[in-house]
Amino acid sequence: MSLPRGHAIERGEIPPFAATYAPPDEAIAARLLAEAPRAADAERRIDARAARLVEAIRARAGGLGGVEDFLREYSLSTKEGLALMVLAEALLRVPDAATADRLVEDKLAAADWSHHDVQSTAFLVSASAWALGVGARIIHPGETPEHILTSLAKRLGLPALRAATRQAMRLLGSHFVLGETIEQALARAAAHGEFRYSFDMLGEAARTAADAERYFGAYATAIDAIGAHAADRRSADRPGISVKLSALHPRFEPISRSRVLAELGPKLLALARRAKARDLQFTIDAEEADRLELSLELIGLVLADPSLAGWSGFGLAVQAYQKRAPAVIDWVIAAAQALDRRLTVRLVKGAYWDSEIKRAQERGLADYPVFTRKAMTDLCYMDCMRRLIAARPQVFPQFATHNALTVASVIEEAGGVEGYEFQRLHGMGEALYETLLAEETGAACRVYAPVGSHRDLLAYLVRRLLENGANSSFVSVAADPRVPIESILQRPRSRIADAKAARHPHIPLPADLYAPVCRNSPGIELGDRAAVRALLAEITAQAPKDPTAQPLVDGVALEGRSRAVTSPIDGAAIGIVVEGDEAIAIAAMAAAAAGFPAWAATPRESRAAVLEQAADALEARRARLIALLQREAGKTLEDAIAEVREAADFCRYYACELRRALKPRPMPGPTGESNELTYRGRGAFVCISPWNFPLAIFLGQVSAALAAGNSVIAKPAEQTPLVAAEAVRLLHAAGVPPSALHLVPGNGRVGALLVEDPRTAGVAFTGSTETAANINRALAAKSGPLVPLISAGQRCSALRLLCVQEDVADAVLEMIEGAVFELEVGDPRELSTHIGPVIDAEAKTGLEQWVARMHGQGRVRFRWDRLPLPTAGTYVAPTIVELDRASDLREEVFGPVLHVVRWRADELDSLLEDIAASGYGLTLGIHSRIELTVARIIARLAVGNVYVNRNMIGAVVGTQPFGGSGLSGTGPKAGGPNYLPRFALEQTVAVNTAAIGGNASLLAEPE
Ligand SMILES: Cc1cc2nc3c(=O)[nH]c(=O)nc-3n(C[C@H](O)[C@H](O)[C@H](O)COP(=O)(O)OP(=O)(O)OC[C@H]3O[C@@H](n4cnc5c(N)ncnc54)[C@H](O)[C@@H]3O)c2cc1C
Repeated sequence: MSLPRGHAIERGEIPPFAATYAPPDEAIAARLLAEAPRAADAERRIDARAARLVEAIRARAGGLGGVEDFLREYSLSTKEGLALMVLAEALLRVPDAATADRLVEDKLAAADWSHHDVQSTAFLVSASAWALGVGARIIHPGETPEHILTSLAKRLGLPALRAATRQAMRLLGSHFVLGETIEQALARAAAHGEFRYSFDMLGEAARTAADAERYFGAYATAIDAIGAHAADRRSADRPGISVKLSALHPRFEPISRSRVLAELGPKLLALARRAKARDLQFTIDAEEADRLELSLELIGLVLADPSLAGWSGFGLAVQAYQKRAPAVIDWVIAAAQALDRRLTVRLVKGAYWDSEIKRAQERGLADYPVFTRKAMTDLCYMDCMRRLIAARPQVFPQFATHNALTVASVIEEAGGVEGYEFQRLHGMGEALYETLLAEETGAACRVYAPVGSHRDLLAYLVRRLLENGANSSFVSVAADPRVPIESILQRPRSRIADAKAARHPHIPLPADLYAPVCRNSPGIELGDRAAVRALLAEITAQAPKDPTAQPLVDGVALEGRSRAVTSPIDGAAIGIVVEGDEAIAIAAMAAAAAGFPAWAATPRESRAAVLEQAADALEARRARLIALLQREAGKTLEDAIAEVREAADFCRYYACELRRALKPRPMPGPTGESNELTYRGRGAFVCISPWNFPLAIFLGQVSAALAAGNSVIAKPAEQTPLVAAEAVRLLHAAGVPPSALHLVPGNGRVGALLVEDPRTAGVAFTGSTETAANINRALAAKSGPLVPLISAGQRCSALRLLCVQEDVADAVLEMIEGAVFELEVGDPRELSTHIGPVIDAEAKTGLEQWVARMHGQGRVRFRWDRLPLPTAGTYVAPTIVELDRASDLREEVFGPVLHVVRWRADELDSLLEDIAASGYGLTLGIHSRIELTVARIIARLAVGNVYVNRNMIGAVVGTQPFGGSGLSGTGPKAGGPNYLPRFALEQTVAVNTAAIGGNASLLAEPE
């Protein structure tokens, strides 16, 4: 079958899902706490059952299937075995033997691991996970896996240790993975007839169409194999399959909604039909919160397909840690009623809690979509459970938990064990459920059984290790005999007690992340459709009609030569700019010089308050600014939102820095004298900014110069004067006196005139290396006082040159090409667009010429050609160019062109030499799990911003101060603690307080 785009499938009566994305915890807690408490005898029964189950778990704690044989084989103590597994986990993805050896040696060499910084966290987390979750009595406090490994290396020698590590890796895999193939898994499952099974194909989200196709094939084959195997099982016991939507589509994301519905819909339906034909359970796993609305829409479409009528095996997982969980349950019940068909619901607590919290903080959301206290998740689980129990048999509930208290509560609330099943993960909860099944005939438990090669194990394994080790996790405390059973049995209701206590006291709201110093700027979640719809409506309504940019001198708009500003999106004229000339530049400089004393004399606190006002105004006018950023600079919605946030962050950060870093400082000295270091403005500052961040960099420079007490003449990029004019008007409205801030749109000649003016007291510049050098020469040629140049060099941290180790290069490049192919290139105002136009025709031509040259040399590996590019507008097809050496890239290629060089494991040093020889040093990304390699690269390259094992864009003001070295800038870094003082003059005032004739304060000292 094929689904046309959008809603072509007959929807039945399934209502659309709508629920507030992140409602306040207190309101939810108040509702949940208001429910009638259970009767005392019910509570006693829960206590008794849960205590029995915990005791059974404790009697078995520390047992890891197969581990004993492994230990015997290598004559290892249990402790050494556990430490090896920690190492094994890190080895899972290493491409070649030499690197694997280096990783082993690296881990062994890091003897002072516990004092190490962030990079070791992952290792330590897994270590503590094993220590806490599995080996609580084996590894003693103070012992670390690396200490144990170091002595082990001495005892066994490295070769044996390596062999043992590989063996540990296999063991680790088999503990959490049922089989490397579906056949193996089925055979292993058959040996455990007391459990039902739901098989899951291991793997991470698909990045390419080929990945998605491979996963689709794996699911389809597995369904056939499971079906063949299950031929004679009675209905309730029949096995099932769990499906991850993100594995089936390379862009399973809210902004690609129509593609997802049109392309993934038919695939999901095909798998569901296959499962129906074999009468299997078919469950959609729950993934991240931002994908929930899209998942439910897709599921609704597929469910409503008439070919699935009469089948009661379709189900989905619902995460109780999400505040919307009860609404999702209600939606499923409504869907089941509408279709008159039984659906299954696997109620889980959720597997991505830590990343949900981080994502909400990074995005500056108004609130979290998940709870911040574990007890709230448990309370919500109970609420969802009651809804599901009440909806039987329309819904078949599946309670997925390893928590004995949760299990006992479910049985009590359900009044027995009929009409639902429990579920556990393979490798977890064995003792709990074996005990339960033995004591409750009729109870059923299904095992979620991952199937796949150990290569694909990593992401899944990390989740499990975290779960085993987290303090808040039941499996961790249940296995630890030091934790009294009474504390494990404490009810979530009494842990919360009061709705006011619904939030975790140490997890601030995203807005308060930097409190009390600064407020985090608000962002938006693109998976929150209501919020996106509201923002898009605001953007349409508030888009400026006929925006203009004119020289503004002392607040007066000056006339001059005007021209139309055109949009890179389609070449349309979107506004008018009047550009400055020599006379205007001179007038602006005179006005700035005249306006300087009054602004410099404005109290620091008033200047800070004005900048904070400006930040608020930026946020209030966000939609208007986004509209301009999109039209004038061709930004996607996501980039435009981020840019407004960054601009507001700059204003707030420099206001805070003004209070902190530019505060007068008393200096130590002899008695009878006061010494103070103070800061004051330098004079008229010229701020010259680029087009790639026409609001954020523009305002970053201007707000810093103003904060330090300078008057400012701002000269924006020729391509983006409209955004700049809007920003200047906004600053004036926020309280910056017109005499302190002047705008001169214009070309490089106008910039040069301003720089060369004898009254210029300083220049802040971000832009090309060539222009920075010109400014530098112009300043040096001037007579009179020397003035500072603060240059951030080019300001683009997007990946331009990828250096990839030869052993993995083909696989990595294939993955990147496949992923790039899936991107949408086009009008950035379309929500689904990933890549918009380059800034103007000149940039486009330059890039096209470069690509043509590379093509001529046979170096172009990939060109995006999925659809024809729009003919109007300045679009460039994403391209991958392969070079022989890093030093072959001498030019600034500023567009969607990725250059790749391969390097051999033994030539890292010469690669680093090549990179260093380029002279640029803005942003560097490193991906490695070997800390010594990371340290070596960082030590060799004096690059401004280094990102390890993460993306390398999106520097956050005050968190990742930004700016390069060498050809990439002078420093100090923008958005960092050393920036403002560079804009200020220092003054030391020493006052002889004894000048009146004596030292009164010394004489007044008591004896
Ligand atoms: C069969 C099965 C299938 C599963 N499928 C999925 C799935 O498709 N998608 C998915 O996301 N998860 C899934 N999980 C859930 C997940 O992987 C965990 O196993 C589960 O959440 C653990 O719950 P518990 O009751 O065993 O443990 P408990 O220890 O009682 O609870 C742990 C839960 O509390 C949450 N938590 C911890 N600290 C806090 C806090 N401060 N604030 C709020 N919450 C907190 C954790 O995130 C976790 O969800 C599945 C679990 C099972 C057993």
